[in-house]
Amino acid sequence: MNSAVTIPPRSGTAFRLTKGQSLTVIDPEGEQVSDLVVFNASDLGEVISSGRSLDYASKLYLTTGDPIYSNRSNVMLTIVEDTVGRHDFLLTPCSRDTFRIIYHDEDPHQGCFGNLEAALAPFGVGPDAIPIAFNCFMNVVIQPETGAFTVEAPLSRAGDYIKFQAEMDLIVGLTACSALQSNNYAFKPIEYRVA
Ligand SMILES: [Zn+2]
Repeated sequence: MNSAVTIPPRSGTAFRLTKGQSLTVIDPEGEQVSDLVVFNASDLGEVISSGRSLDYASKLYLTTGDPIYSNRSNVMLTIVEDTVGRHDFLLTPCSRDTFRIIYHDEDPHQGCFGNLEAALAPFGVGPDAIPIAFNCFMNVVIQPETGAFTVEAPLSRAGDYIKFQAEMDLIVGLTACSALQSNNYAFKPIEYRVA
């Protein structure tokens, strides 16, 4: 088995994933979110779609066995193992604007969005192409009556993971999330393994 790669706190990376390979995203310390985006490696206009994936699943919380669809309704990833069962696919990657608007930071961190933008640039992916991410381990609690939601501490504990299988050749962007609320106010690393 390949060894795990560490993504340092508040950073991100990008890499290729070949059809049939698996990607395991691991929370080594617990309560740490990781934003995942993927693009079709041979046509960057095809990208994961929150709207299509949630629509076709008829639920908000995807887990083992669920496909993740593209904007063209092709399956890009399948979730094959999940030790947590709670992830978010509604909210955008945290960004300078997130920290300015929600946290009122005067000198905001670039967030997952800026980290993804930097990591994906060498692959030819520009910032406007970055979609809603599949937010591994992010715990968004929704009130059924009003739809109001709060971002709560992740349910993941040290060593928990979610494993995906690639259903086409992909460019992957992956972060250790930079937002205070999402990570129970402590920034930790993320690990991943390609096999
Ligand atoms: Zn983030």
